[in-house]
Amino acid sequence: MASVEEDRSAESKGSSFESWGRYPVYNAALKPLHWQDELPGALQSAPGAALAVGLGRSYGDVCLLDGGTLLPTTAMNRLLAFDQATGLLTAESGLSLAQILDFAVPRGWFLPVSPGTKYVTLGGAIANDIHGKNHEAAASFGNHVPAFELVRSDGSRRICSPTENPDLYAATIGGMGLTGVITWAQLRLKPIVSRLIDYEGIQFHGIDEFLAIKKQYAHVEYTVAWLDCVSTGRNFARGVFMLGDHSKQPGELKPSRKPRLAFPIDAPGFLLNKLSISAFNTLFFHKQLKPHVVTRQDYEPFFYPLDAVAHWNRMYGKRGLVQFQFALPWETSQEGTIAMLKEITKSGLASFLAVLKTFGDVPSLGMMSFPLPGFMFALDFPVKPGVTFPLMQRLGDMTREYGGRLYSAKDACMTPAQFQAFYPQWQSFARYKDPAITSSFWERVTGEGRR
Ligand SMILES: Cc1cc2nc3c(=O)[nH]c(=O)nc-3n(C[C@H](O)[C@H](O)[C@H](O)COP(=O)(O)OP(=O)(O)OC[C@H]3O[C@@H](n4cnc5c(N)ncnc54)[C@H](O)[C@@H]3O)c2cc1C
Repeated sequence: MASVEEDRSAESKGSSFESWGRYPVYNAALKPLHWQDELPGALQSAPGAALAVGLGRSYGDVCLLDGGTLLPTTAMNRLLAFDQATGLLTAESGLSLAQILDFAVPRGWFLPVSPGTKYVTLGGAIANDIHGKNHEAAASFGNHVPAFELVRSDGSRRICSPTENPDLYAATIGGMGLTGVITWAQLRLKPIVSRLIDYEGIQFHGIDEFLAIKKQYAHVEYTVAWLDCVSTGRNFARGVFMLGDHSKQPGELKPSRKPRLAFPIDAPGFLLNKLSISAFNTLFFHKQLKPHVVTRQDYEPFFYPLDAVAHWNRMYGKRGLVQFQFALPWETSQEGTIAMLKEITKSGLASFLAVLKTFGDVPSLGMMSFPLPGFMFALDFPVKPGVTFPLMQRLGDMTREYGGRLYSAKDACMTPAQFQAFYPQWQSFARYKDPAITSSFWERVTGEGRR
């Protein structure tokens, strides 16, 4: 079911596999998986170590393995079963969320949790236990995965669910691909009657106003805010709060069109500077001319606005980008976010994409899952030697001081001390790690060497 647009297995003919941030760059042998029965052989025959990967939409090194063997799964992407009455879908792990939507939307079903891009595989979504704009209503992705199969390098094939191999189930959800290869999984979809979203966009100035809107619209399923992290003074922490619910008025359920625009080349470094980013932020703020807009829009621009331009990461040039993404508990959410925003504006290393949302209190099922109740904040920085990494280090330390954690799926900079403070359960998790599998991320943050 792969489309040229998203199939990274085409790239597997070469010797490189990039993560979305294009930093760091590592070489690994590529051995694409096509059939489930290629496992466990592919794991056992990989010299050194192996790692299953999806569409490489993680930003840092969680989907990289320097000098090892990557097993891209996008050609192992068959839909295995679908129950139209309950919305329970069973598919191979390389199927992408885009492909699931193409199949499910015309039948009146939708993803229970959607990240900011639909070019993510089912296996990748489970392995990072991804979250969407509806965390308070739906928790994270793993909460909608009742079962999956995990193949380990010892040759065992384990069905994992809350009742069967429950420990491996919990370790694999958010387990960053380290516990084995997920061959297939079940996903509980949710019913819809239209492609449309009842949308409201509300401008705000400052975190107090953000929280007031959040409270007033607590009944709305999807909420997310764009935040200007360049402006200071009166415009400090201004933004646009975006809210949406699936429309209850029956409408068209046709599949989506493929994206037509692509960022053609690596942009030269000078294109991204404080002035251009500041102008972009001001334009975005005023794109919504009125302070409060109420409308209906298609789900594509609501959920996946960035997918409209394929390869937009090239805009950051050859050096790439890093993302800083934290979750802070409610007690420190407001104070910590303001302190870090000030640190970011002070650094002058402005970012286009600053996203602020909230996580609810339904616990994730994964042992290493990222969400915790409170604020979630994410922003991208261009890689500028000597500037970006010291800032990331300071922001990581501040996240630790405020009792929060960083998201491994987006990380390229966490120090071992930071990771081990954010995820104190990491050593218990390590007991479930497959000895033939590792990642550059895991080696970086734990110092663990190869077998
Ligand atoms: C524009 C953009 C917006 C995003 N928005 C969000 C968001 O809103 N919320 C969010 O949570 N994330 C978001 N992400 C991150 C993305 O959802 C995750 O990084 C996701 O895990 C990527 O999936 P992938 O298929 O590309 O997997 P990869 O990035 O290739 O791999 C991710 C992890 O999954 C493991 N893995 C992949 N397949 C398997 C398998 N079959 N078995 C075992 N392990 C496997 C890999 O080893 C790796 O550890 C966003 C990314 C981008 C580029």
